[in-house]
Amino acid sequence: MVVKVIRCPSCGEVLELTDMYEGMEIQCELCGLVMIVKDDELLALDTNEVYSIESLAFEEEEEEDRDEFEDEDYYDYEYDYDYED
Ligand SMILES: [Zn+2]
Repeated sequence: MVVKVIRCPSCGEVLELTDMYEGMEIQCELCGLVMIVKDDELLALDTNEVYSIESLAFEEEEEEDRDEFEDEDYYDYEYDYDYED
């Protein structure tokens, strides 16, 4: 199964499409934008704007090697427990 990953042209939310066919409706869960698949383009119903699917395609390579979560600045503060033996 081919999974196409695109970014919502409105809000940038990453949308995973497990299928894509002519006339298919895609709705962004975040902003609610509805797009229709037309050939290799997406027609946004709200604005009537047309976006090339390739231009919206989310490619992991673009992310490069940036660290998503850096824990280095996280300090595990010691609690002031009163140990009573
Ligand atoms: Zn969106």
